Amino acid sequence: MIASLDSDRVAFESLSSDYVRFLEILKANGFEGEICPDYASRTVLATDNSIYQRWPQAVVYPKHSEDLTRITRMAAQVPNRNIVLTARGGGTGTNGQSLTDGIVVDVSRHMNRILEIDVANRRVRVQAGVVKDQLNAALKPHGLFFAPELSTSNRATIGGMISTDASGQGSCEYGKTRHHVLELDTVLIGGEHLHIAAHSAALRKTLPASRQASSGIFTAPPPGLLTSSET
Ligand SMILES: Cc1cc2nc3c(=O)[nH]c(=O)nc-3n(C[C@H](O)[C@H](O)[C@H](O)COP(=O)(O)OP(=O)(O)OC[C@H]3O[C@@H](n4cnc5c(N)ncnc54)[C@H](O)[C@@H]3O)c2cc1C
Repeated sequence: MIASLDSDRVAFESLSSDYVRFLEILKANGFEGEICPDYASRTVLATDNSIYQRWPQAVVYPKHSEDLTRITRMAAQVPNRNIVLTARGGGTGTNGQSLTDGIVVDVSRHMNRILEIDVANRRVRVQAGVVKDQLNAALKPHGLFFAPELSTSNRATIGGMISTDASGQGSCEYGKTRHHVLELDTVLIGGEHLHIAAHSAALRKTLPASRQASSGIFTAPPPGLLTSSET
């Protein structure tokens, strides 16, 4: 049976004191994005494109990777170990992946900039909240496109695509999302940044010709939050 938010109304009203305290400290520590524990924000992000519903304790909209560092560093502190963070992009997942009883970290509102288009090397560097159609609109004048296709391309973000290894029409020819990610800048719980370069030149030579030539994404950071990637 599909859960009903109305039946959880009591749980909503009794917001956990641990989360109230965490959000207050987050604000005091200079988090620059929006912190939204209000009823409307929580209700909107209690659903995605799945059949599931989970009422989060709050939604936060980080302005930049420094905000992600702040929230992940705080979440690692001993009194906050029960705080749950869940990244969210376009919320088009069909399995409830972006739903949580904890805090939704929505990177799609602010962290949605295309940072660099390197036409000569067919690479781009983007923030994780960039939407796939947004990226391809920017690439079109250069005769390029980000190949991994999915039906939700006007909503799904690069961060969500990387997390789910999105694929669809044309993927047998051009590959899945993972075949196009060259580097990732990721913020871990604790606040450390993990920079990953997935394809060495040697490894790329082992790929089919069509994929060797593929363009790549650098997303710039979200827990295990991708902040940016190069695709
Ligand atoms: C009608 C419909 C058609 C679809 N068609 C396809 C299809 O053709 N091919 C396909 O592959 N999928 C398809 N999907 C599924 C969905 O669109 C993809 O999984 C998409 O990649 C999710 O992207 P998103 O930005 O919406 O991520 P969300 O749904 O917001 O999140 C998905 C997961 O990614 C994580 N995540 C999001 N952003 C970040 C980040 N910055 N850092 C770390 N983790 C992050 C979330 O925590 C969650 O676990 C479809 C869904 C629907 C409803």
